[in-house]
Amino acid sequence: MKIAVLPGDGIGPEITEQAVRVLKALASDGLHFEMEQAAVGGAGFDASGDPLPEATVRLAEQADGILFGAVGGPKYDTLPRAQRPEQGLLRLRKHFDLFANLRPAIVYEELAHASSLKNELVAGLDLLILRELTGDIYFGQPRGVRTNQAGEREGFDTMRYTESEIRRIAHAAFQAARKRSRRVCSVDKANVLETTQFWRDVVTDVHKEYTDIELSHMYVDNAAMQLVRNPKQFDVIVTGNMFGDILSDEASMLTGSIGMLPSASLNAKNFGMYEPIHGSAPDIAGKGVANPLATILSAAMLLRYSLNQEQAAQRVEAAVRKVLAQGLRTADIAEAGKRTIGTKEMGDAVIAAL
Ligand code: NAD
Repeated sequence: MKIAVLPGDGIGPEITEQAVRVLKALASDGLHFEMEQAAVGGAGFDASGDPLPEATVRLAEQADGILFGAVGGPKYDTLPRAQRPEQGLLRLRKHFDLFANLRPAIVYEELAHASSLKNELVAGLDLLILRELTGDIYFGQPRGVRTNQAGEREGFDTMRYTESEIRRIAHAAFQAARKRSRRVCSVDKANVLETTQFWRDVVTDVHKEYTDIELSHMYVDNAAMQLVRNPKQFDVIVTGNMFGDILSDEASMLTGSIGMLPSASLNAKNFGMYEPIHGSAPDIAGKGVANPLATILSAAMLLRYSLNQEQAAQRVEAAVRKVLAQGLRTADIAEAGKRTIGTKEMGDAVIAAL
């Protein structure tokens, strides 16, 4: 199994290093990964003047999945748009047609205090938001600002989804649910928007192939409310690009800890890019204090979704739980005044727990 490791910028190299060590530690289970690194983002620009160097694309094309750190930093903020670090990320998504964005929101009992919601509402929360990433009003044409017939300027965008785009994300949702509690809630605004009534119809049709999965539908305004009222009612939420953008950020905040949350972006062949949801954290880069757990949990998702190694994925996730239960904390998840450990010590602890 081959993994392309793209550390990127800021804390990216520090946190991916720990995830790579954890993957190597799975050798005791007989799992061996060929892992090769390449530059992306600001590091790509520094190395070859391009945030996504050709050699990086070639490496990724030969791999079964990508483990990605984070990109960006103040040094690159004044570059022309095409050379900015985030272009590396956007071009990778496009190149590999990564249309399904998976964002789990998990609240570990030990960290429930960090949430802005009451402990009993979020402790033990484990939901997965599946956001369609390549269609919807963000990409629909035509769009722009024009002068209308009354002579007034108006802005407009086009919400659009093709049947095949909806079908493939629906399949991804039902398949992801099979690896969890087998419940999918599709979120739309079918009472108002034609596009999302169509979304609802197509998701319902695809569901006929998944009789073992329970499907429900919810309007997006209600979903936004239910996420803060009773988030534990959800297992898998599937939704379009715009609603998913908003709901996935809302859900991540339920957990209160950005350094803990992994993500995956998959294509139709289950090839994927796996990365923490946080950025390159230039304020703490190089200090050895960044939390590597979101990246380690991203590696667990890579094992689950692209490498089909469910058991190993669960072992890594169990090791993270164990470390938290032992009371070990990096600074971002520690309660005030409590002892903290650094990036490498956290990696050591996860490996010991494995
Ligand atoms: P950020 O997520 O990098 O940092 C926000 C805050 O969270 C900072 O205080 C940071 O120290 C802290 N933090 C983040 N990850 C942490 C971790 N693992 N452990 C401990 N603390 C952590 O967001 P930002 O400050 O808005 O952006 C910084 C840079 O990252 C920018 O250049 C931005 O464009 C880029 N960015 C990249 C990605 C990505 O690569 N996917 C995502 C978001 C932002």
